[in-house]
Order: sequence, then structure tokens, then C-alpha cells
Amino acid sequence: MLLTGYTKQIFRPECNPSFESVHCVATLDDDISEVLPFLNAVLGGTQYFSDPPQVMFHHHGRIIKVGAREIAVNALADEAEAEKILGWLKNEINQAWEDRASITPCFTGKAKPQLMEILKLLPKTNCKKCGQATCMVFAVALREGAISPDACPEIDGDNLQKLDSYLNGFDLEA
Ligand code: SF4
Repeated sequence: MLLTGYTKQIFRPECNPSFESVHCVATLDDDISEVLPFLNAVLGGTQYFSDPPQVMFHHHGRIIKVGAREIAVNALADEAEAEKILGWLKNEINQAWEDRASITPCFTGKAKPQLMEILKLLPKTNCKKCGQATCMVFAVALREGAISPDACPEIDGDNLQKLDSYLNGFDLEA
């Protein structure tokens, strides 16, 4: 087993302590830098950095940063959700390490949809009915896999279909 344990800390965003979601930072008991390219290959990281080694993932709308000695996760509902995601990641890390002989390590992030391609299919009225401040903010959330195209109630059927098929060409999670 590569990762034996971690110490978790939970934070509320400093800019707004009454904000509903929390952030979590786990300090790892072991240096996991060697597994990161294998973990990236298995989980499809959106960004990979070599120095210092670090990989970013998007998982059900959460952004997860995994480094040699630290895991950070944002926008969590509560501590229980943090523990669930950390437990899942610990398993994935140890499994990737165990299986590394049969995994081709990956040192790059996967391709992302183009913001302009998304934006040109949105109504661009900035009406806020989707709960986002502007169509551009909505497009960024779509690109990150945090929401799905039908969260815009104003998009017409034809463009919704085009957007769905464009985004289906990428490995996003919503
Ligand atoms: S509901 Fe649609 S048109 Fe309105 S702001 Fe959101 S993305 Fe733009």
C-alpha cells in the first residue's frame, strides 16, 4: 500500500464564512509523487504538472488537486462528503500503484471543450435563469463538467442537441 493515511482539515471560504460549501485539505502520511502519472492515466486528469508533481481532476462538479503530500477538494457539502471523496481517492491511488506495471503513465491533461464553441450555442442574453451570473460563467461551468447544457432553460432544441453532441466528444462529468 502506497498511501497509508492522511490528516484532514476542513475550511469555510474566508471571503464568505457563511457560505454553504466547505473546502478540504488532507496532508498525506506518505509521498505519492510516483503514482501521480498512473493516477492521471486511470482517472483522466484535466491538468498535469511535473514540477512539483500535481494532477487536477473534476469529480461530480468538485475540483480535486492531488500533489505529492497533499490532496485538496473544493465545494463540498460537509465533512462527511470530504471523507467519502478522500476514502475513494485513497483506494484509487493504492489501486493505481498496485496496477502500475499494466498502466501507461500519462504526463498531460486531457483536452477540454473550447469556451467559444460552447458560447456560440448559448442564447447570450445573460438572463441568469440558470442561476449563473452570465452565459460566459455558464459556459465555464459546462466546460468543467459542473453542470449539463439543459440547465439553461432558454437554449433552443437545435442548439441543445448540438451542444450535447459537442460536449459528448469530451470525457466530462456533470
Ligand atoms: S439561462 Fe441560458 S441564456 Fe440565461 S444566462 Fe444562463 S446560460 Fe445564459
